[in-house]
Amino acid sequence: MDFKKARERMVREQLIPRGIKDPRVLEAMRKVPRHLFVDEALQNQAYSDRPLLIGEKQTISQPYMVALMTEALELKGDEKVLEIGTGSGYQTAILAELADKVYSIERLRSLSQKARKILDRLHYFNVVLKVGDGTLGWPEYAPYDAIIVTAGSPKVPEPLVEQLAEGGRLVIPVGDPYTQELVKLVKTPEGIEKKSLTICRFVNLIGKHGWKESEY
Ligand code: SAH
Repeated sequence: MDFKKARERMVREQLIPRGIKDPRVLEAMRKVPRHLFVDEALQNQAYSDRPLLIGEKQTISQPYMVALMTEALELKGDEKVLEIGTGSGYQTAILAELADKVYSIERLRSLSQKARKILDRLHYFNVVLKVGDGTLGWPEYAPYDAIIVTAGSPKVPEPLVEQLAEGGRLVIPVGDPYTQELVKLVKTPEGIEKKSLTICRFVNLIGKHGWKESEY
């Protein structure tokens, strides 16, 4: 399989027709080898229009969802970004292409370790990973110019809003365990601006300010 061609087709057929416009986002999606972030048996499906299982009942998001969320962060190249839900590390790599520094938290150690390996192999040295509860944010490096949560939450975790810089963007799926609204928050001097981007379905965000493990 020609993965480079598959990526080009993914951009042309799944992203551009659905309105993804930011040339830097499209370029990153053309560049990052998504197939290396899934198991070998799934590599030939890596560029299809859907999420895929990555182990531990978690998923790598659909390419369009990755592009949409990334575009909403409005990255120019000099930002400090916080990601909650490292998972496969694919979204992390896209962010590493587009920002200065990426801090990413994953609650499952096995996934974080796998992600570290592939991110190192691809030379994404501007990525710092941590195992823990991302609903608490990562106060040491705050404030962040952009925050992305790649798991669905019953509400927006307050620590993440606190750790957002003024002018910063926060993108997060909020709703019940089965459907969520993808929400974009912008911190302005007047307060928090909120906009709904789409309806989506993510795996659950589990933690102090997310779902309790026993709730699902
Ligand atoms: N961006 C990832 C998506 C992974 S799915 C990718 O492209 O592969 C969401 C991930 O969020 C899962 O790996 C899950 O374990 C993780 N997660 C759930 N709750 C979390 C929390 N409180 N803190 C950090 N990670 C969490």
